[in-house]
Amino acid sequence: MAGLCAAARARELGADPVVFEKGDRPGGSMLLSSCVVWRYRSLEDFRAECPGGDPLLQELIVERLDEALAWLESLGAPVVWGETGNPRTIGKRFDPKGLTDVLVGAAGEIRLGEPLSETGEALLLATGGFQGDSELVKRHITGEPVLLRANPWSAGDGLRIGLARGAALSAGLDEFYGRAMPAPPARVPEEKFVELAQLYGSYALVLNEDGEEFAPDPISWAETDLVQAIARQPGGRAWYVVDDPTLDVRIRGRSVSEMIEAARDSGGAVLTAPELGFDLPDSYRYAVHVAAGITHTVGGLRVDDRARVLGADGAPIDGLFAAGVDVGGIAVGGYASGLAAALVLGLTAAEALSSL
Ligand SMILES: Cc1cc2nc3c(=O)[nH]c(=O)nc-3n(C[C@H](O)[C@H](O)[C@H](O)COP(=O)(O)OP(=O)(O)OC[C@H]3O[C@@H](n4cnc5c(N)ncnc54)[C@H](O)[C@@H]3O)c2cc1C
Repeated sequence: MAGLCAAARARELGADPVVFEKGDRPGGSMLLSSCVVWRYRSLEDFRAECPGGDPLLQELIVERLDEALAWLESLGAPVVWGETGNPRTIGKRFDPKGLTDVLVGAAGEIRLGEPLSETGEALLLATGGFQGDSELVKRHITGEPVLLRANPWSAGDGLRIGLARGAALSAGLDEFYGRAMPAPPARVPEEKFVELAQLYGSYALVLNEDGEEFAPDPISWAETDLVQAIARQPGGRAWYVVDDPTLDVRIRGRSVSEMIEAARDSGGAVLTAPELGFDLPDSYRYAVHVAAGITHTVGGLRVDDRARVLGADGAPIDGLFAAGVDVGGIAVGGYASGLAAALVLGLTAAEALSSL
């Protein structure tokens, strides 16, 4: 998202960028996403939801997102919903394949299968975070096994290149955005990342493998705090135990019973509550085995509000920019749209690069 948006904008401004894409297809995690590009209604709301995040970057997103969405539409990006359906947020949902195609068409030269390398020219790091590198995840986030719920190529290359050039790290290095997914042996292919997400943790009794409750109280609306807590439990697993009335609750267009059915169809463990073997009240009906799935990291490189990567002394590093998940410190302590950050910082980086 960030790299393609930046390239498209840079071309509009008269530059001649080259996009290096390590994967065998363009679109990264954007192509796999629900593609809702959104912001909080105000900077105050953003600050309250993500209190550890960088206020300057949060302000940039709140101020620039609406014009950035209009820019995407002006390129022909297909809108599926004109609003998010969430009273806390403002934004649009795009068709991910259509959005990818439009951006690929506007981005110019894309070298598929070619990892980014230092060329001696100005460089924008937009490799999508470090969730795909299990060593980095173990070092910064959790020693427990977690599922990757993202493209496989975002494995910390931007972070490594930035650090080798003296970049400073942001806050939030131990945080991530993710979802509870059916635990192995469930099969969770990338085209089912959205459909298989188990989104009803706040309605469930959440137990670890020893039958202990550990969920944050209260669980946040996006449940990202719960998923991060699961990632730190033994095995990175939990049980969501639900009663009958919960089965009919609808969350983002799906009922809890549909989500449980999807978990069962994927080969995941769905037990009756007595089969779980813990001493539970009779009212509980099903227990679904879930695992923490990482969609993207929250910490990364520190940048300023022109997307310039900052060094340890706080000064911009010559010719080095970052956008998207490679930029850390935006959603620290909460949850915010990764696509919105990628879009706004991608445009900002292109404009800063073009004025060099
Ligand atoms: C299932 C799912 C649902 C989601 N739903 C939403 C949603 O509704 N709303 C939302 O805001 N966000 C959502 N997201 C998150 C969103 O997709 C990401 O935040 C966004 O794509 C981040 O943009 P990015 O440009 O940083 O990374 P990406 O879009 O992942 O792009 C990074 C690119 O860098 C490439 N790359 C990696 N390493 C290298 C290298 N060394 N050299 C060259 N290329 C490299 C990767 O192959 C990839 O193409 C979802 C994600 C998933 C997986």
